[in-house]
Amino acid sequence: MSCISDNRLRVCGIVDGTTVDGPGLRTSIYFAGCRHHCPGCHNPSTWDFNAGTELSAEYLMERIADNGFAVTFTGGDPMYSATALLPLAKRICNAGLSLWIYTGFTIEEIFSAGGDMAALADMADVIVDGPFIESLKDTRLLFRGSSNQRLVDMTATKKNGHVVEYTPTF
Ligand code: SF4
Repeated sequence: MSCISDNRLRVCGIVDGTTVDGPGLRTSIYFAGCRHHCPGCHNPSTWDFNAGTELSAEYLMERIADNGFAVTFTGGDPMYSATALLPLAKRICNAGLSLWIYTGFTIEEIFSAGGDMAALADMADVIVDGPFIESLKDTRLLFRGSSNQRLVDMTATKKNGHVVEYTPTF
């Protein structure tokens, strides 16, 4: 499923220099579209694939480069737009910028699905995985909302062949 046409993406918001979606200063991009519909979702207005504004990958990359920050894809669930996001993710990787991706899918589901979802995950440094589960909500958790969600260190996970969680060093 894609929310893009002609290299354009639907974006519900961009936050320049946030510190809550991963370590350091980051450009966080909120992509439209999510079918997980988690009860208690913090941002149900992003569920609609037609929400937000249509922006080009070129515009987004220019804004990312101007900021010079690491990058976070969130939403919505960017994995529903994996095909559309691959070129932008590749440019972010080529620029040497860290990429975190928030998704309601588990990393096991993404690996099992394969295709563009797995290819997009492959370009991320960290995948924050799994649905938000209200009964497991814990406001003390860093960079995630409920305790089932993991910060998956993608480099270590691929190297070791099993899920390795990212441990913040600050
Ligand atoms: S995956 Fe995220 S955006 Fe989608 S419903 Fe769950 S909490 Fe909301």
